[in-house]
Amino acid sequence: MDKINELRTKIDELDTKLVKIFAERLQIAKEILSLKISNQLNADDFKREREIIEKLFNEFGDEISKYTIERLYKTIFSISKESFKKEHQNLTAIELLKLRPIIIAGPCVVESQEQIFRIAEELSGIGVKLLRGGAFKPRTRPNSFQGLGDEGLDYLLDAACKYQMYTVTEILDIEQLERNYEKIDIIQIGSRSMSSYGFLKQVGRLSAQDGKPVILKRGFAATIEEFVNAAEYIRQEGNPNVILCLRGIRTFEQIDSKLRFTPDIGTIMDLKERTDMPVIFDPSHSTGVSRYVIPIARAALAAGADGLMVETHYNPDEALIDGFQAIFPRDLKVIIDETLN
Ligand code: PEP
Ligand code: MN
Repeated sequence: MDKINELRTKIDELDTKLVKIFAERLQIAKEILSLKISNQLNADDFKREREIIEKLFNEFGDEISKYTIERLYKTIFSISKESFKKEHQNLTAIELLKLRPIIIAGPCVVESQEQIFRIAEELSGIGVKLLRGGAFKPRTRPNSFQGLGDEGLDYLLDAACKYQMYTVTEILDIEQLERNYEKIDIIQIGSRSMSSYGFLKQVGRLSAQDGKPVILKRGFAATIEEFVNAAEYIRQEGNPNVILCLRGIRTFEQIDSKLRFTPDIGTIMDLKERTDMPVIFDPSHSTGVSRYVIPIARAALAAGADGLMVETHYNPDEALIDGFQAIFPRDLKVIIDETLN
């Protein structure tokens, strides 16, 4: 027992040193990031990150595995970027969402570092602040590409950090959210999860700590009342900041129509009369046809939607998922310009 206590004392001493050194490292990393941004250099430097990991592996490879060093340092790098991003965002996500229209754009799925950086660059160039990108994809077929997982979310965060944007991503279970909480500015709950009341409560409870906004997408077979009540499951756990997102419903239209779902445009007005929650519209999933996206987006805004969530890609034909309903950032700019006039 004495031995255990003795070792614990050593651990406590080491922890004190470790956290002190970590705080110092964090401070220096932030200074470097600041200098890079003020000199208009790339904020991210994956080559340098690789070099750090390789150097430590060469030094400590006998004592600690490369996998462990890699995991530890990937976490350290992402914490540094997260805290930098927070300090340099002049608005919190909640404040930002007070601005109208709320424009959320990005690819269906984060495919690679290069893909999300390029899309983020183009979108930030047209004034978009909220960057969506799926890391955990709810696919109809279990063998289809499911997204890059935590790695995809890291790329999304890196891109958002570089272009001073906010991350919006779907999570499929509470562990994904717990592990990645700090990386996500706006939590997305997808259409397929809307009726998982236990999950909604877990998300509500976890996000009640800071009121992080939650976008709840309408289940494609849910009534309006079921949808609003699903949002209440989250809110009753202590987070009032739920945004309702309409994304099309399944009707008999789908028997022989080109539409992937039926755009529930009229529901915007009904929801606005029933609740105080912001209502946004997804013209991508609700139509499933790129050339229908802009007209339906206009219709949604005309019906009083507080914003849009639009799938965008620099080359929709190349997109790994849902390219048939993605538009180019330049096409989204047309809508943004119209709302400003
Ligand atoms: C999405 O927005 O990435 C998505 C999967 O949408 P939905 O949940 O509406 O199908
Ligand atoms: Mn999609």
